[in-house]
Amino acid sequence: MHRAFYNNLADQSVNGEILSLDTCRTILLSSEIELLPLLNSAYEVRKKFVGKEVMIHIIDNAQNGYCPEDCHYCAQAKTSRADIEEYPLKPDEEILAEARRAYESGAFRYCMVFAGRGPSQRRTEHLARLIKEIKSKYPIEICVSTGLLDEQKAQILKNAGLDRLNHNLNTSERHYPNICTTHTYADRINTLKAAKKVGIELCSGMIFGMGEGTDDIIEVAYTLRELEVPSIPANFLVPIKGNNLAEVNDLTPEYCLRVLCLLRFLNPKAEIRVAAGREIHLHSMEVLSLYPANSLFLDGYLNTRGASRAKTLRMIKDAGFTIKSEQDLDQLLENEEKDRKLCYTANEEQLMKRLADLRPYLRSKKNVSKV
Ligand code: SF4
Repeated sequence: MHRAFYNNLADQSVNGEILSLDTCRTILLSSEIELLPLLNSAYEVRKKFVGKEVMIHIIDNAQNGYCPEDCHYCAQAKTSRADIEEYPLKPDEEILAEARRAYESGAFRYCMVFAGRGPSQRRTEHLARLIKEIKSKYPIEICVSTGLLDEQKAQILKNAGLDRLNHNLNTSERHYPNICTTHTYADRINTLKAAKKVGIELCSGMIFGMGEGTDDIIEVAYTLRELEVPSIPANFLVPIKGNNLAEVNDLTPEYCLRVLCLLRFLNPKAEIRVAAGREIHLHSMEVLSLYPANSLFLDGYLNTRGASRAKTLRMIKDAGFTIKSEQDLDQLLENEEKDRKLCYTANEEQLMKRLADLRPYLRSKKNVSKV
């Protein structure tokens, strides 16, 4: 692909022009695309609108399981046989302690996720009290994922100080019945519109690798642009044993990066979050995701673990990015890496390889002592 193609992508995006369907298909599918120039163009757009900052999110799974919905990708769905440890809603003091921990860990935003179709009136009012209390104690933004909401409930949460509502579109209208049968794509759109109407910022994204086609991805990316969604999580399906969608999907690191670039070009000012699955699908190319994306999760996801804190923070630091936080990245990193540093610098005994490290074959054969 000629250099002008990549330059045009960045120019069009920065100028607020929408990329054509053909161009979007080329980004996702064409064998002519080279990854580094594509990433560089997406990075130009990122740099222009959000600089070199990375936003860290920490997710609190406030309730695990007990969900009557059947989202095929979710371990908490009523139809899933995944091995999860169910618990009802955490007590307030536990949620408050986790909010504090998130703040002290450098999180810009604390995300509380509640399994279920949507909150009752009682649950909504309880949640509103929690939001007020967290906001009065810590200067941290709050996002909740509550399931379906109407305008009246959204207003209660807005009045309590809620900054954002997470409600992912997940996939296209066409593909939606293949991933969930207990609610519809239209239900999800209506929730987003209700929240937007009362002035709550939207967080809505997708899950890739659920058997969708490239046009499904492009359609949702266009819809998120139309809705002016300022926060877009890009999840790559983590196949969990026992879920309806438990098959290993065919995502490759390169394809995941193309998807992130597409999201950046179509939503130039948005907070694009490289979310669930970044570790298992991007592998050694994980750091490249920070060039189109400017946000990630620390401490894993709803039901699955992620990279260690030290590894994630080190990745941000080594690539020359900063974090949007009241905490200092170097200090956070030092705290997380303390044990490792002790191991490699202070304790010489542990610095040097032993015979078992140098000759693992012999160790496995239990022959070390005979040689
Ligand atoms: S994604 Fe939410 S609504 Fe769907 S099954 Fe999981 S917890 Fe329930």
